[in-house]
Amino acid sequence: TGAAQGIGRAIGEALVQEGADVCFADINGAKVAEIAELNQSKANALGGKVMHAQVDVTDRSAVKDMIGHTVSVFGKLDVKFNNAGVNKPMNFLDVTENNWNFIMGVNGLGCMIGMQEAAHQMIAQGTGGKIVNTASIASRQGFDNVAPYCASKFAVVSLTQSGARDLAKHNITVNGFAPGVVATEMWEQVDQDLMDIGAADRPGQAMEEFSSEILRGRVATPADI
Ligand code: NAD
Repeated sequence: TGAAQGIGRAIGEALVQEGADVCFADINGAKVAEIAELNQSKANALGGKVMHAQVDVTDRSAVKDMIGHTVSVFGKLDVKFNNAGVNKPMNFLDVTENNWNFIMGVNGLGCMIGMQEAAHQMIAQGTGGKIVNTASIASRQGFDNVAPYCASKFAVVSLTQSGARDLAKHNITVNGFAPGVVATEMWEQVDQDLMDIGAADRPGQAMEEFSSEILRGRVATPADI
């Protein structure tokens, strides 16, 4: 999920490159259809299949439909990558219920629904499976202008642990990974949002500050992930 751009797109494309059958899913149906189309010929050459689905990860019935549709085309579900995520920086004292509910909804609830619905399918298949969730550096440290985002990414870590404990008996593994700063469209928007709320003075400043201690001396790219 979140496969129309950024990390989700890059992971999907890397899987195509390895010959996997991949369903690119995103709330942005038009864009994800384009990405799937771009990968079609490469997949065909490598013996894999590509499809796409428009899905809002917070909508359980839409997630169920996406998985059902994917299984009807590919035959089964081996891996579910819960990656869709959002952020909308606000100064800590200004955070609203709407801001909290929006971010916790997509990043927290969306992750849980994705895990549950994938697990139902994998258990029915009886073949085990692998669930991977995108956490963040923000699931290890609370930052002042993105409090709901950090809370939601701490939630991704605990959901990963809870899911791993519950699903191991079905031979389903659940893992998370926590990227630092990755140059994607999300960061362009976050950079702008931080300027809008007075937390940064110029474009690029926030990204520079967040990445100043990266030992490689540069931010990550989606391809790195
Ligand atoms: P991005 O904004 O470039 O891409 C996110 C994608 O998710 C978009 O295509 C968007 O349409 C989709 N999406 C948003 N809401 C959705 C919903 N309700 N249902 C389905 N799809 C939805 O972001 P990215 O940087 O590629 O981030 C991907 C994941 O990695 C997110 O979970 C993000 O929190 C996490 N992450 C990003 C960074 C970073 O520095 N970019 C760092 C750590 C973690």
